[in-house]
Amino acid sequence: MSKIKVMDEILANKIAAGEVVERCMSVVKELVENSIDAGSSEIKVELQEAGTKLIRVTDNGSGMDKEDAVLSFNRHATSKIEDEDDLYRINTLGFRGEALASIASVSDITLKTSTGNVGTVVNIKGGKVIDVITGDARRGTIVEVKELFYNTPARLKHMKSLHTELASITEYMNKLALANPSIRFTLINNNNVLLQTDGSNNLLKTISDIYGMEITKKMVEISGEDDDYVINGYISLPEVHKSNRKHMINLVNGRVVRNVELNKTINDAYHSYKPDNRYPVVVINIEVDPSLIDVNIHPTKMDIKFSKMEELISLVNELTVGCLKQETKIVDIGDVKNVQDVKEDTCTKSTVTKKEEKSKIKYEELTLDFNIISESEEQYKKIPRMYPVGLVHGTYIICQNDEGMYIIDQHAAKERINYELYKNKLGTPNNESISLLIPVTIELTNNEFIVLKENIDLLKDMKFDIEEFGVNSIIVKAHPTWLPTSYEEESIRRIIEIVIQLEKGFKLEKFNENVAINLSCKMSIKANTNIGLEEMEALINELRNCDNPFNCPHGRPTIITYTKYELERLFKRSGF
Ligand code: ADP
Ligand code: MG
Repeated sequence: MSKIKVMDEILANKIAAGEVVERCMSVVKELVENSIDAGSSEIKVELQEAGTKLIRVTDNGSGMDKEDAVLSFNRHATSKIEDEDDLYRINTLGFRGEALASIASVSDITLKTSTGNVGTVVNIKGGKVIDVITGDARRGTIVEVKELFYNTPARLKHMKSLHTELASITEYMNKLALANPSIRFTLINNNNVLLQTDGSNNLLKTISDIYGMEITKKMVEISGEDDDYVINGYISLPEVHKSNRKHMINLVNGRVVRNVELNKTINDAYHSYKPDNRYPVVVINIEVDPSLIDVNIHPTKMDIKFSKMEELISLVNELTVGCLKQETKIVDIGDVKNVQDVKEDTCTKSTVTKKEEKSKIKYEELTLDFNIISESEEQYKKIPRMYPVGLVHGTYIICQNDEGMYIIDQHAAKERINYELYKNKLGTPNNESISLLIPVTIELTNNEFIVLKENIDLLKDMKFDIEEFGVNSIIVKAHPTWLPTSYEEESIRRIIEIVIQLEKGFKLEKFNENVAINLSCKMSIKANTNIGLEEMEALINELRNCDNPFNCPHGRPTIITYTKYELERLFKRSGF
């Protein structure tokens, strides 16, 4: 007798559920995505105990008639794909027809739906149809899921804490809301409203519903396109940053996706504008012909493949770099305190209170001009005219003008100036070289020597005259003219160290960047150096000419300001 048996449908669904519905968050995801696909303009998600007791999703979409309502629970039942061709131009969030069947096999699910005429109620438990009766005629659909995973104890045991479940549901709902600003979303857990958007189709408004006004005021628009891609969205000014990448949100044709390369490109654009271990807030939507993407990689459909990835990366890079160059400004001390302390966890109660607070602020404030400097002359656009008045702790230059008071960290400023200088020099390698009176010999270990020999052309291109000199040693006879005076030997050794530490597949740009950061850091005035007013003025002028005068290469601020208003407020002068 044959040993192979064909599985019954209920068992097959239960197994598929393992992939499609792993946790409460996947159930919420599948149900809400169905509501979006059904053309809803309003979607409400109600949870009890983070969804472990109850998940109820109510929408005002197309609804289903009785026949479809029953059919929708069959495995591979979908209204979204008819033939193979459709698979290559998917523009709905769902398409596999697996979700409802899977959820129904591991829970007690009730579907109440109507196209506006007669309503239908279907109840299924553990994959078995319990009841199909006539229901309400309200157009739209309500899906209620109870006792999730009651018949799969292993899964139940693996469920994370309620807090973790709720946090990931909230995170995903936030993303869906950002992907669909024209839909009014509500998320409630145990009667606490965690998210409420207004469906006004204004992305910036949705951002403020989620992140609050302080951050929203510091989001700048990016937009651009090439032949294949249209990009729209908002990225945060460098002074706003978070401890993880969760707030870098990529949307592709309104679908929430995860793409490591895209986020890396955006984050790299902030390099030297913010600390490397902090991440910006980003919401970008990429519109592309569905045939150029593949969303069919994994059932949860978060990963995505692009056919013309390099083209996309270069467009995103160009847009973010351009945007940051244009939009950075002096950090206003009044803003700083709030922005970096905004709670990261969006599912705690304090978020709700915050939201109440911010709803008092008028929405018009969103259109605030980001550029606080109104000097007409080009050179004073980034850093206005200001006059040094003294030095504190040998480190901080205090300046003033009619607008307020400025504090410059002279070490950070010098680092920025030198960094841009070296980067420039490294980028135009047709520099002259200077012979050393006494050549520098450097001894290396055997493997360092091998690595250096492999990459020696790099140094030659930079105009170093460099040769092998006995066993595992090299001699440097000349160096590029721009090495910092009286630090030549130290710089040569530093650069050689960097060459030795090169990883495989490095890029010249990255190498130059590394050299520039290293040299600038070493050669800048150390803190606690007393300088006179004239030197201060010279330093400010040099800083003013930088591409980004506002941060040192490690992302720390070079200059902060107290506006006159801030000062008056701090001293509680009249009117405050
Ligand atoms: P998929 O979304 O991949 O098609 P599902 O199992 O999630 O598969 O849903 C099956 C079908 O049920 C959908 O194709 C759709 O026709 C219908 N459906 C599910 N949820 C809704 C809803 N909220 N409103 C209208 N139709 C729905
Ligand atoms: Mg679906």
